[in-house]
Amino acid sequence: MLPQIPPPADRRIALRVTPEAQHALRQGHPWLFDQAIVHQSHAGAAGDLAVVFDDRRRFLAIGLYDPTSPLRVRILQHGHPAAIDEAWLHARIAAAAALRADLPATGTTGYRLIHGENDGLPGLVVDRYEDTLVVKLYTAAWLPWLSRVLPALTAVQPCARVVLRLSRKLLDRDEGLCGLREGLLTGAGFDAAAGLVQFSEHGLRFEADVLRGQKTGFFLDQRENRARVERLARGKRVLNVFAYTGGFSLYAARGGAREILSVDLSAPALDAARRNFDLNRRAAAVAAARHLTQVADAFDALAALRERGERYDLVIVDPPAFAKRAAEVDAALRAYARLTALALGVTRPGGLLVSASCSSRVDAELFFTTVKRAAEAAGRPLYERERTGHASDHPIGFPEGAYLKCLYAVAG
Ligand code: SAH
Repeated sequence: MLPQIPPPADRRIALRVTPEAQHALRQGHPWLFDQAIVHQSHAGAAGDLAVVFDDRRRFLAIGLYDPTSPLRVRILQHGHPAAIDEAWLHARIAAAAALRADLPATGTTGYRLIHGENDGLPGLVVDRYEDTLVVKLYTAAWLPWLSRVLPALTAVQPCARVVLRLSRKLLDRDEGLCGLREGLLTGAGFDAAAGLVQFSEHGLRFEADVLRGQKTGFFLDQRENRARVERLARGKRVLNVFAYTGGFSLYAARGGAREILSVDLSAPALDAARRNFDLNRRAAAVAAARHLTQVADAFDALAALRERGERYDLVIVDPPAFAKRAAEVDAALRAYARLTALALGVTRPGGLLVSASCSSRVDAELFFTTVKRAAEAAGRPLYERERTGHASDHPIGFPEGAYLKCLYAVAG
């Protein structure tokens, strides 16, 4: 249930910003940082509306103010003024839903419905898992708006229940939450102790722990890469490192892989991977595939498998984001290089390496070059077959929105 959260102030904050920020806003960029503000009419609370003017006092953009974040304003609308109300929210949500309208016909009932800034709703993510909507907030600025977002959301996307998730940053500053907790917001039929929901992706059944799982419970952004792996898996011995709940593994199994080893540091994730296999045993190829799991650090496991002489025809490497801040980029690149060399150590010559990076701070070109150079340095050059990004329900609305990159390459 929604606690009483004070509504946003009626009075809008007026902002003047640096020429660089004016330029970025004219280009449609959704972020305004605190250092870019040169004049502010009055102090505001999280969720108040802020209007940004140019040097000639013309309207540039309107957005949600967040005094607790260096990302001070998340822009809702550029170019011309608008009343930000339930009708406005409804229109944005409906536009986002229209982009995903063809997904259910592909046997997919789990997908991202609202992808934050990339769908014109910065800091707000909504994932659909069949009849459950999971709302994830990345800024306190959405809290006073929740009572308007929910009716708009459920009008566009009828559902049985809505579950709330909060970003780590929001959870850490408990006092601003006005008693709001993660969990069921509206609806019924949800076992909060288990937190589990089921859904389909391209006809495969999966469970997701929408309360404790990473992101909102599943890495929906890899759906199309998983489908590609399915098409490449026939007859193969597959290694899936950073397997989480076995998404790539299950697709490989349905694609006819003989054997799949799923490696992850998280024992609960691999327990879920085994349950996901059980959910799909009626698919003959899934029933026929041998699926093994190993709880281990990926770097250690790769070195040990190599030592034992294990070799695979298809190796999938999909690590967590190694660089969330600019200062972490160099270390991330070194980690990608190390992982590449380790993964090639267990890839048979002529085998396929699928290597992904979801670090938004690591530029795609730099990632691909790093992987290829590491392969050359290891004496196992890569022959590139394909480069891909996120699934279609994760549109790219601004440069920072392009975070996922994936290389498919044959190992020499
Ligand atoms: N490929 C997955 C998503 C992977 S997310 C999918 O399609 O669903 C990254 C995973 O890496 C998480 O499950 C996390 O538990 C795991 N992880 C993080 N650090 C690790 C490490 N050092 N060794 C092994 N797994 C790790």
